[in-house]
Amino acid sequence: MGGSHILPVIYHLLMTTSCNMADSLAEKGYTCTFIDPVPDHLCCLKCNLVARELVHTSCCGESYCHACISGTLEQHHPCPACQEKSFTVLVLQKYSKQIKSLQAYCSMKEKGCEWTGSVAMLDGHLDPEQGNCSYIDIQCPLQCSQAVPKNELEHHTTQLCTQRPHACQHCGFKATYKEVVDVHLPECKYVPVQCPNFCGVTCDREDLELHLKICRLEEVACRFSGVGCEDRFLREEEEKHMQLNNQCHLDKTADTLVQVNQQLQHEVQELKTEMASLNHNKQEQEQKFQEQEKKLLEQERKIQEQGLKLQEQEQKVQELEWKLQMQAQEIKEQYQKLQNLEQRVQELEHGSVAKEKTIQDRLSAKHKEQDCKLTNQERKLREMEQKLRELDQKREKSPPPRPLRGLPTYRLKHTKNTFPPNFSCR
Ligand SMILES: [Zn+2]
Ligand SMILES: [Zn+2]
Ligand SMILES: [Zn+2]
Ligand SMILES: [Zn+2]
Ligand SMILES: [Zn+2]
Ligand SMILES: [Zn+2]
Ligand SMILES: [Zn+2]
Repeated sequence: MGGSHILPVIYHLLMTTSCNMADSLAEKGYTCTFIDPVPDHLCCLKCNLVARELVHTSCCGESYCHACISGTLEQHHPCPACQEKSFTVLVLQKYSKQIKSLQAYCSMKEKGCEWTGSVAMLDGHLDPEQGNCSYIDIQCPLQCSQAVPKNELEHHTTQLCTQRPHACQHCGFKATYKEVVDVHLPECKYVPVQCPNFCGVTCDREDLELHLKICRLEEVACRFSGVGCEDRFLREEEEKHMQLNNQCHLDKTADTLVQVNQQLQHEVQELKTEMASLNHNKQEQEQKFQEQEKKLLEQERKIQEQGLKLQEQEQKVQELEWKLQMQAQEIKEQYQKLQNLEQRVQELEHGSVAKEKTIQDRLSAKHKEQDCKLTNQERKLREMEQKLRELDQKREKSPPPRPLRGLPTYRLKHTKNTFPPNFSCR
């Protein structure tokens, strides 16, 4: 292997380029038939086909399709050929070019395509849109989920596909072919149907019911079934049955009439009895009703009277309430007056106490003054007495004493009785 041909492969790059390949049925090697034999080294060791996007392992140099070895690489498994744990893959340009130039038949050769060309041209030839292989299968564009060879697609979509547009041939209803056939036709009113009695008439489905009412081969019951003839026959035989059974029909009718008449009479009698009973009930009810009405009127009158009384009572209550309010007002006023008087009395009391105290104070002051004066006089008297005594002592030597002692003694005694014992004057 020449070093200049070995290029390290960038794995992701290959992944993206491989996505656009046309013949990527399994992304394995080429399934087409080759005109000349292909050398082994161009074949994939895994799928045994001519390798698509040929790569070589870096360990043992074996050939693989890129898609066949990419899983192994991605999961870091060892090389499937030599078991080397760490390996990569390489693209050898020389061999890649060799594969591209191999001459091959179209992959659709067995279906009839006669195209031949290089592998490089094959993918283009097989491209469903751009390519010109008319044998490649294409998914039906009407989504019937069928794959159809390209050259049959037009016939399929216009003539075969169950999803092709279709109109009911009897009424013109439009839907897909499948819907028209499976759903619409079993119910379409305009589908022609044969008479189920095989009378030879064909009519629209919606008219069949009308036809059966007149169909000569429809089985019908005898018109005298109501009086007991249980025969059934085809409509076209009705006249014959009537002629043959005329007397029998008349007898049965007469019997039935007698029975019906008896029954009717019985019923009429029952109805009469019932009516009489109902009339009686009705009269009773009416009487009761009148009584009730009378009672009702009386009650109403009583209610009115009560109402009047109630009004009077209410008026009286209002008057009483008013009087009560007036009295309450008066009491309030009197209470106010009383309070004023009390206040006045308190004020007066307070005033009199103050005056009394003033008078007492004044009296005390006067007493005090008087007492002071008396004390002073007493003192003076004593002094004078003293002096008199001194004078007497002196006069003993010369003239006799004068009688002046009586009066001051009396004044002293009086003063002591008038004032409290703790009172003293200085
Ligand atoms: Zn392969
Ligand atoms: Zn290897
Ligand atoms: Zn082809
Ligand atoms: Zn289709
Ligand atoms: Zn229709
Ligand atoms: Zn018929
Ligand atoms: Zn009959």
